[in-house]
Amino acid sequence: MSNLQSLFQAIPSMDRCLSAVEEAARQAACDSSKPCQELIQAPHLLVREALAAYWNRVRQDIRAGTIAQVRELGLEARLPHMLAFVCRAVQPRLRPVCNGTGVIIHTNTGRSLLAREAQDALLRAASGNTTLEFNEATGGRGSRNALVSRLLQILTGAEDGLVVNNNAAAVLLVLDTFCRNREAVISRGELVEIGGSFRIPDVMEATGVRLREVGATNRTHLEDYERAICDRTGALVRVHTSNFRIIGFHTAVPTRDLARLAHDHGLLLINDLGSGSLVDLERAGLPHEPTVQQSVADGSDLVLFSGDKLLGGPQAGIIVGKKELMARLRENPLLRALRCDKLVYAALEATLRLYLKPQKAVQAIPTLRQILMSAEELSLRAERLASLLATACQGLCEVSLRADSSRTGGGAFPEYPLPTTLVVLKPLSCSAEQLKQRLLGTSPLLLGRIEQDAFCLDPRTLNEEDFDLIVRLVHKVLQD
Ligand SMILES: *Cc1c(COP(=O)(O)O)cnc(C)c1O
Repeated sequence: MSNLQSLFQAIPSMDRCLSAVEEAARQAACDSSKPCQELIQAPHLLVREALAAYWNRVRQDIRAGTIAQVRELGLEARLPHMLAFVCRAVQPRLRPVCNGTGVIIHTNTGRSLLAREAQDALLRAASGNTTLEFNEATGGRGSRNALVSRLLQILTGAEDGLVVNNNAAAVLLVLDTFCRNREAVISRGELVEIGGSFRIPDVMEATGVRLREVGATNRTHLEDYERAICDRTGALVRVHTSNFRIIGFHTAVPTRDLARLAHDHGLLLINDLGSGSLVDLERAGLPHEPTVQQSVADGSDLVLFSGDKLLGGPQAGIIVGKKELMARLRENPLLRALRCDKLVYAALEATLRLYLKPQKAVQAIPTLRQILMSAEELSLRAERLASLLATACQGLCEVSLRADSSRTGGGAFPEYPLPTTLVVLKPLSCSAEQLKQRLLGTSPLLLGRIEQDAFCLDPRTLNEEDFDLIVRLVHKVLQD
């Protein structure tokens, strides 16, 4: 028998591995190891699949020659490693994350955190029946489309509002309804890719709309739009450039002028704001951005924005505008495919209600609270976290503070720096990159960023209640 064959034959049977990890998990769970508790609860099918994946890796190591001794393959020798692998593999795929990146609206981690009020509403809707499509006056069928219309009217000054799955769906629905087989006139400087390879021009063309690009990348004038208008024109379209900014020699036509031009020709102005804030964030030191209210007041016929960017609510696409235009959107059969469920309405309604008291909204909505967090608060938070880490990780890493900046991410001001204080970790026995990698395997995951060869945590996007947990995670991976 060749050495390779004898190595493969030394691999323990699936049943022996299964009972060994289960027994080990039961013992470890007594020491309150959370991943091991989860393993005990996990369906057998998933545990078997994880074990098969584990031994496939070991087989690869055997073939590669990194495992060359039969004694390295015994159950005893493999158990700690196997247990750790299986515990990790059977966890749910959607896992919680502590976001220490300083990017507030982070698409990779699920964008906005919901306000307490929205969380409560979500839980109530999830665990019970609701009036989602119920007419309380007649006891018959109602429409979910009416649930937040009144709130949207009050908050945006528009005549009516409608909600779909996300802002990309809002763009799709609006263009399909008003520009199908017609031309949408848009500035070259606004044909952007938003991220996750979502390209505005691709979505537009998917609806059978022809794009009529006008102007140059950096400059578009009112006359450029005017010259492009013809009997095939469906609408003038404005798209917020979001993650892309043109600086220097740059001209864009003000919304007010564009609206007047559209209306003089009997056309609509469609305004995709992307982020779409209901509060002016200039006082946070951010550059001026028109709010949704301002865009409506400036004459946009339809204003489109996301629910989970600056608004700080659940994933949704919100469309506000004239009553008769909303009525046409509601008649589009596509709406049925783009509608939101009761969970989204519950969280969105609760979020919008907070905006009725703007002072309360900026406190209660995590996205706004994080953007508006003061330099003093950030530095106090950083000091607290740093001191907890320094105490717990003595002899394992150096902890210090550094002035740096956070980013809002997702939409209106993604690259605009917000001053912050970072907690800077320099591990003594591994590289910062290795620390970062290991923290991707913890539960929850702890995300940070590498700056100047150190692993950095931004207190702006971390919950203060999580600080003790974060210290435990860092301590654990530094010790292993
Ligand atoms: C983010 C964004 C979108 C897409 O919105 P989702 O809610 O992510 O679908 C569309 N247009 C603009 C300008 C954006 O910034």
